[in-house]
Amino acid sequence: MKTIVLASHNAGKLKELQAMLGDSFQVRSIAEFSSEVAEETGLSFIENAILKARHAARITGLPALADDSGLAVDFLGGAPGIHSARYSGSGDDAANNSKLLAALTDVPDAQRGAQFVCALALVRHAEDPLPIVCEGLWRGRILHTAQGKHGFGYDPLFWVEEHNCSSAELKPELKNSISHRALAMQQFRQRLGL
Ligand code: IMP
Repeated sequence: MKTIVLASHNAGKLKELQAMLGDSFQVRSIAEFSSEVAEETGLSFIENAILKARHAARITGLPALADDSGLAVDFLGGAPGIHSARYSGSGDDAANNSKLLAALTDVPDAQRGAQFVCALALVRHAEDPLPIVCEGLWRGRILHTAQGKHGFGYDPLFWVEEHNCSSAELKPELKNSISHRALAMQQFRQRLGL
């Protein structure tokens, strides 16, 4: 079985990605090797995913998979986008959610469309000239108040029309099968012939 390192310090994402990869790989977390966090200086989800994967491969000497994800809200021109994790400045989920609700005060449902975006990048080594890159988009709408206890980040504010609930009210297994990360991961598995 091949070993890969997952370049994420976010426990929520780590859990989801590990569950989605199943037993095709032995998955190790970058946290086992280093607490150093890659600088996300890219202008896009894809660039940042590649930066994080290269950084993890450089530290560990292992093939590395990284994801970069976030929430893009139509009314806010795609914000918070690549800045989703630190939208409020602090990196705290509750503060990010409050800032988002404040930015959408009095905005009607019809204009509250949004999507979660995920870019996944696999590099075989730190200087890999041809990373494997996959993307997933998950459309929804931003609620007026938080609902649900599962998931992380903006899940309590993300309304999932098909299931009539917020993504924090979805069972984790269901979220893992329909989310932006799941869609990117499906593509990724196809690319690798898994
Ligand atoms: P990253 O670690 O730079 O990829 O930042 C991703 C940020 O986007 C997270 O900290 C969350 O705020 C948000 N995010 C990404 N995926 C999800 C999700 O599945 N649910 C809720 N929030 C998410």
